Amino acid sequence: MSHLQQVTVLGATGSIGLSTLDVIARHPERYQVFALSGFSRLAELEALCMIYRPRFAVVPQAQAADQLQATLRAAGLATQVLHGPEGLCQVAAHPDVNTVMAAIVGAAGLPPTLAAVEAGKKVLLANKEALVMSGALFMQAVKRSGAVLLPIDSEHNAIFQCLPGDYSLGLQQVGVRRILLTASGGPFREMPLEQLHTVTPEQACAHPNWSMGRKISVDSASMMNKGLELIEACWLFDATPAQIEVVVHPQSVIHSLVDYVDGSVLAQLGNPDMRTPITHALAWPERIDSGVAPLDLFAVARLDFQAPDEQRFPCLRLAREAAQAGGTAPAMLNAVNEVAVAAFLERRIRFPEIASMIEDVLHTEPALAVESLDAVLAADSRARDLAEQWLSRR
Ligand code: NAD
Ligand code: MG
Repeated sequence: MSHLQQVTVLGATGSIGLSTLDVIARHPERYQVFALSGFSRLAELEALCMIYRPRFAVVPQAQAADQLQATLRAAGLATQVLHGPEGLCQVAAHPDVNTVMAAIVGAAGLPPTLAAVEAGKKVLLANKEALVMSGALFMQAVKRSGAVLLPIDSEHNAIFQCLPGDYSLGLQQVGVRRILLTASGGPFREMPLEQLHTVTPEQACAHPNWSMGRKISVDSASMMNKGLELIEACWLFDATPAQIEVVVHPQSVIHSLVDYVDGSVLAQLGNPDMRTPITHALAWPERIDSGVAPLDLFAVARLDFQAPDEQRFPCLRLAREAAQAGGTAPAMLNAVNEVAVAAFLERRIRFPEIASMIEDVLHTEPALAVESLDAVLAADSRARDLAEQWLSRR
């Protein structure tokens, strides 16, 4: 490769953001940090700015921006500090940027991720919520702008690696029978059902295989993460929900599989370390070192598979229903889930109530057609209001 790639990392202080910076630091001859964003951990963002010396940093508010600007200037850095959603969109779409890592968690990541797509960037998509919310519009924007969209979610990155280069012709045309989306089953896979209402946020966040942010950890425990990933896979690979089968695989070594009509099943395997999909997407179509240890199959020793238990994990069924309903249903599912997960993390509701809240709100509010981003954002905010009402009635 000839020139240095300029990379914006949205959500730099998070789990995916830090793993991305770890990979970038291994390849200074390839990648330069153009912009970093943070939201709550601003001391960490400041420390990252000192190391990576980006052209821009983005924080939530003007006051925090002034503070960080003063500190960085005193340290002799030329970094310019921006703030708010406009600042995020600016560094996502800046003409000097080649690659954008979309690693903000939740709906807040949608506007800057879409801005990167509309500007035709190479977009590394970790923020699955953005695609779940705005699916059709998002994919239309990718086609229109010529953006290169590469999945970071380990399962989708695995599927992408197992599909032929011309899969956009259609899954049937390239001989794919179905996609097998693997799931670890999370920390509560075997817990007696009657104990689920007593589990704590700490237990939910203690994932057996992956170290991740708190929201996605709770989503993994409820299997809403797999539900969101099912919807994500439908959009990324132009699949129907029926073409995707969820397979519980507790070891998290096979990251997903593609089943072809001739009986061949291709899988991507690796240690559960997000630096593998991050590095794959950053360097694609090349392959470079990620720092991840080689997979030791003798240490893994065995690979187990189970069908998902939808009684234990109703969120998976709710996500499948939202995928089938289409329109604004996935955006509403995502919004209510975000409110429910935050309430669970604040100990305001019990774990099984995450699913109850989603089910109650989705069953009272019909899905509408999605014609514009405004329609998506209106559905998101309406669903959040209904979820808050559900909380106050409780
Ligand atoms: P995290 O909580 O560790 O980090 C989230 C980042 O988003 C932080 O930098 C935070 O400052 C920023 N942020 C939070 N709220 C914000 C807001 N309102 N506005 C702007 N920035 C905000 O989360 P994570 O585990 O790194 O996950 C990030 C995304 O990647 C999520 O969408 C998640 O589903 C996806 N993902 C994560 C993993 C993983 O292994 N961690 C795997 C697959 C997909
Ligand atoms: Mg995943």
